[in-house]
Amino acid sequence: MVIKPKVRGFICTNAHPVGCAKSVENQIKYVKSQELGENKPKNVLVIGCSTGYGLASRITAAFGYGAKTLGICFEKPPTEKRTATAGFYNTAAVHDFAKAEGLYAETINGDAFSDEIKAQTIDKIKQDLGKVDLVVYSLASPRRTDPVTGETFKSTLKPVGQAYTTKTYNTDKDLVHDISLEPANEEEIAHTVKVMGGEDWERWMQQLSEADVLADNCKTTAYTYIGKELTWPIYGQATIGKAKEDLDRAATAITQSLASKAVTAHVSSLKALVTQSSSAIPVMPLYISLIYKVMKEEGTHQGCIEQVSGLFAERLYVENPPVDEMNRYRMDGFETNDATQAKIKDLWDQVTQENFHQLSDYAGYNREFLNLFGFEIQDVDYEADVSPIVEWK
Ligand code: NAD
Repeated sequence: MVIKPKVRGFICTNAHPVGCAKSVENQIKYVKSQELGENKPKNVLVIGCSTGYGLASRITAAFGYGAKTLGICFEKPPTEKRTATAGFYNTAAVHDFAKAEGLYAETINGDAFSDEIKAQTIDKIKQDLGKVDLVVYSLASPRRTDPVTGETFKSTLKPVGQAYTTKTYNTDKDLVHDISLEPANEEEIAHTVKVMGGEDWERWMQQLSEADVLADNCKTTAYTYIGKELTWPIYGQATIGKAKEDLDRAATAITQSLASKAVTAHVSSLKALVTQSSSAIPVMPLYISLIYKVMKEEGTHQGCIEQVSGLFAERLYVENPPVDEMNRYRMDGFETNDATQAKIKDLWDQVTQENFHQLSDYAGYNREFLNLFGFEIQDVDYEADVSPIVEWK
């Protein structure tokens, strides 16, 4: 079939297998061009490995450092009539490129929040890797079923404390408008923490430790977004921010409870960029279109692979890396510094329906959005007849 993007609201409901493979290849080329240093991960578990920051983590570990990687993701395979999800095609491409280099890369497709998938992962580690020395936790999900109670929790994206009215951009209708967001109630906050907080990260580390598949000095990191004043009301100080604060608690708890193995857990703060998850957050498409404009002008624009390879080379795998007051690794400085934020704020105040496309880099945002699904990638023939059927090898 000839596959063209089917965009509905903030999601694209199909994906291009050749485009996704090319996008993975481009990321591999990038990490191979970097000097990543002598210290390196050897056996890496990436939870949320198929798109966005988790995919970039896997590619960095595998192709930057030559590590064996086991990934966990939740993706839909293709049928004759329907393409797979982008993460499915990305993973197929990672497997193919890894195997071509004689590198171990295997993936478990299922609900990472469940104990079944944790048990399968442990068996696979025992069988193929022995132990892992790095665990990257990069899940982004709107819901989680608690494996103990069976209750399903949903996350919400709402302010905390008071209602908040702000500008937003509706990507579907090409419309800049105000939105008013009502504050979350206590239950909504608690449920968002249940889904996106640190409980599941801790559970993973606990079960991996009990099964004795964590190497001594194993590192683990979970990803967060902190941002600044412009995004705090809807992110940092909102329901999702409360969940992310819980990651800080979990990092300390993991490091303390696994001290006998010298396991260290850090939250890593990364910059805002287009991924399947961030495009679903109100305000983010507008904010990201503006930061793309400013950061491209400043020459500091980065995507997932640049951020994550920097995180590995400058934080995870150096002696005594800098941390912030909460013991986090910060890779978001080019976005959150005052001078850059002031330029973004200036544009934010000016932006209207009329000038949005001049003031922002929405074209860049939209291209990167389509790239996530394998569309608008250079050197891919989108008129070609391709089979949606791809298998993980
Ligand atoms: P993403 O949507 O691109 O990736 C999410 C990953 O989680 C995918 O691999 C998906 O398959 C997997 N996943 C989701 N639910 C799952 C489940 N139940 N079981 C197994 N796998 C599941 O998201 P992303 O933007 O790369 O986000 C990853 C992390 O990075 C999140 O913690 C997010 O908050 C953080 N982060 C994102 C940004 C940003 O701007 N995108 C910035 C800073 C930090």
